Amino acid sequence: MRYRRVKGTRDILPHEAEARRGLESQVHEQLSKAGFLPILTPTFEYYELYQRSTGESSDIVTKEMYRFQDMGGRDLALRPEGTPSVMRAVLENRLKIPIRLWYVMPMFRQDKPQKGRYREHTQVGVEVIGEAEPQADIELIKLGFDLFTLMGIKGMFLELNTIGCRECRSGYTEQLTGFLKEHHDELCADCKVRMNRNPLRVFDCKVASCQSILKQAPSQRDHLCSACIEHFDAVKAGLERFSIPYEENERLVRGLDYYSRTVIEFKSSTLGAQDTVCGGGRYDYLMGELGGPPTAAVGFAFGVERALLASRGEGIFEFNQSSIPLLLLPLGDEAKVYSLELLFKLREAGIGVQAEFRSGNLSKQLKRANTRNACKVLIIGENEIASGKFILRDMQTGDQQEVGFDELLNLFCSAKGQSC
Ligand SMILES: [Zn+2]
Ligand SMILES: [Zn+2]
Repeated sequence: MRYRRVKGTRDILPHEAEARRGLESQVHEQLSKAGFLPILTPTFEYYELYQRSTGESSDIVTKEMYRFQDMGGRDLALRPEGTPSVMRAVLENRLKIPIRLWYVMPMFRQDKPQKGRYREHTQVGVEVIGEAEPQADIELIKLGFDLFTLMGIKGMFLELNTIGCRECRSGYTEQLTGFLKEHHDELCADCKVRMNRNPLRVFDCKVASCQSILKQAPSQRDHLCSACIEHFDAVKAGLERFSIPYEENERLVRGLDYYSRTVIEFKSSTLGAQDTVCGGGRYDYLMGELGGPPTAAVGFAFGVERALLASRGEGIFEFNQSSIPLLLLPLGDEAKVYSLELLFKLREAGIGVQAEFRSGNLSKQLKRANTRNACKVLIIGENEIASGKFILRDMQTGDQQEVGFDELLNLFCSAKGQSC
């Protein structure tokens, strides 16, 4: 019996791995220009960190976390999302605030595998820590918008909402709870729990009957305090000024406890029912929850798999099937030894070159060169070693020419050795 990968995990094969590297370097370049510094945190943390920050009532903590005990009896969890551990790291290492950080790290959630979502998946996250002004929200949204445009995400649109602050949310929560109590019997089992723990969460419910009840739910708009209204109006005015199209969605709440005010989701119409590419917003209360000083923050995160899915076939992710620009074909044992020396010299000169060390006559070696997708081959036999002149053959046209080492360098260095 052969081993198989665990359900919900996947192998990222060279073709896609290459595309991911392209995406990550694009992201890195754009974020560096905006002053974001990279950060990496451990793959596992104390369970309590997520319980405290992501929240005891969240689906992530109650249903989806990989929670385990190590041999020292520590209660640990594989990282289900990046923000809590990044904020923990900022606090623990006393990083100076304000600071802008970004990461690309694997996340682990044991939820139902669905299109573009896996139990281990890679997220890019962006955190602006210590900036409370609406301009920070606008800058961040514009950054995301430009990034996804650059990546070629198709059918992209932005949804926007505000969930107010602690002061103005409590009045609304009370009214919402009253409404939910009236409809208690019609709600799904999860929503009955949410109703008591964190009523706003009911808006995350995917059950159709709950969603239709919630259409009549009271609106949070009527409860916002003047500071929250002012903040939201400033964000919207900014988006309009910089021509970033958005739709207001009053039901957009995000499933995490630490969010406040601005909530955003970038979606793609190509992804079907699970159309969210990127989620984010303000989390002004998180640092305080983790025992730090009250610190405003705003950020977003997106799954690399989903972003690739929503942009497949566009611009930066296209690349040629891997080919070997130059393949050395030694004929005989002496030539093999010589080829190795030549290989290192050429590579030192910056040429992308490999060698075929299996034994065989010329026709067999040429066949192998074809299978390996070589652009050009250099044939090296006893005579060639003696004269220092080799036969360079173009595998597509079959053209051959005699070249010395220096000529070879010139030929490949001028073409950077990459073109076929
Ligand atoms: Zn408020
Ligand atoms: Zn429900």
